[in-house]
Amino acid sequence: MSGLKPTCKEVHRLVSEGMDRELSLAERTRMRLHLMVCGACTRFNNQMDTLRKAMRVFPGDEP
Ligand SMILES: [Zn+2]
Repeated sequence: MSGLKPTCKEVHRLVSEGMDRELSLAERTRMRLHLMVCGACTRFNNQMDTLRKAMRVFPGDEP
């Protein structure tokens, strides 16, 4: 954690970690504040979101 403004690198990390675990309120707040001002991270977040939804739709091969 470094200062109030998270960098793109940190936000990318949080978005990726959000796939595997529940982020804390502080982490989500930092992420959202950054997404409001950064188009690149917003796109990255949307891509990950789409991926996450796609994985739910296709839960893997039947045994
Ligand atoms: Zn960014």
